[in-house]
Amino acid sequence: MAGLIDMSNTNVAKYGVVGNPISHSKSPAIHQAFALQTQQDMCYKPFLVSVDGFEQAIADFISSGVSGVNVTVPFKEKAWAIATKLSKCAELAGAVNTLSFKDGDIFGDNTDGLGLVNDLKNNYGFDFEGKTVLVLGAGGAVRGVLGPIIQENPASITIANRTLSKAEQLKQVFAKDYSISTSGFSDLDTRFDLIINGTSASLNNELPPIPEVVVGSHSVLYDMMYSNQTTTFNQWGQALNAGNTIDGLGMLVEQAAEAFYIWRAIRPATHEVFAKLRSQ
Ligand code: NDP
Repeated sequence: MAGLIDMSNTNVAKYGVVGNPISHSKSPAIHQAFALQTQQDMCYKPFLVSVDGFEQAIADFISSGVSGVNVTVPFKEKAWAIATKLSKCAELAGAVNTLSFKDGDIFGDNTDGLGLVNDLKNNYGFDFEGKTVLVLGAGGAVRGVLGPIIQENPASITIANRTLSKAEQLKQVFAKDYSISTSGFSDLDTRFDLIINGTSASLNNELPPIPEVVVGSHSVLYDMMYSNQTTTFNQWGQALNAGNTIDGLGMLVEQAAEAFYIWRAIRPATHEVFAKLRSQ
């Protein structure tokens, strides 16, 4: 029956999410909801894999007929390395969050960036075209979202990071596609239309030390972290009367929808799933 989770049933397509830790992951609930909604005969389970056991786990999945897995911390770079074919987005991201196993190949994709872009465009009506974008942070998450943001043709992209050299490295990675500006936090001196917090500062209830001048009454603030309370970054934006403050729960749901589409060639509706997660 569509959507029932039974890995021993050989008649359903098998998927999962691989990480360490994994018990906190919302991906099984999201994909189960998508499977029921779209009547797909599939199952999706969380898999806890030891930090040095990723490659063996993938080999075991393939031999046991698993069709694909999502990959989360700390395996996204290992998934990139193990893939035999990469999407352009994943290639530039240097990390993979969606693996598909087919005809002896391991296809690697990265749907995090499209997840963020789709959340902003489809759920909040944000049009990137001609907008000024400030991205805070230069870690794995930021590298993953830059490609899809560039595709949306914003007027400018500025990366500001605590360690400036990491922002410079990212600028070089995307140099063929877009001329990104870089900055230290304290050197920022203009307003931006969109400010994306891709630092992990919010995880510790900290704020990247950026000047208030970057926030105007029209600015949209997007914290890639999500929480059942307003994140520290978004509290800061609200205190400055920013135009809107959004957290990364929608990005999580939208990146899952993209992965589901890659695997099943059917695009699930995301609103209900998002609303259910938000209410929990
Ligand atoms: P990384 O560890 O790869 O990078 C962390 C970044 O944060 C670095 O740029 C680091 O700067 C910066 N940073 C850390 N602490 C501070 C601080 N106190 N002040 C200023 N900058 C700081 O992490 P990820 O890129 O993997 O993750 C970043 C965030 O994105 C996390 O909050 C994560 O939860 C979120 N995320 C959300 C997703 C979603 O679906 N919603 C998907 C993926 C990630 P430096 O280079 O100087 O060390």
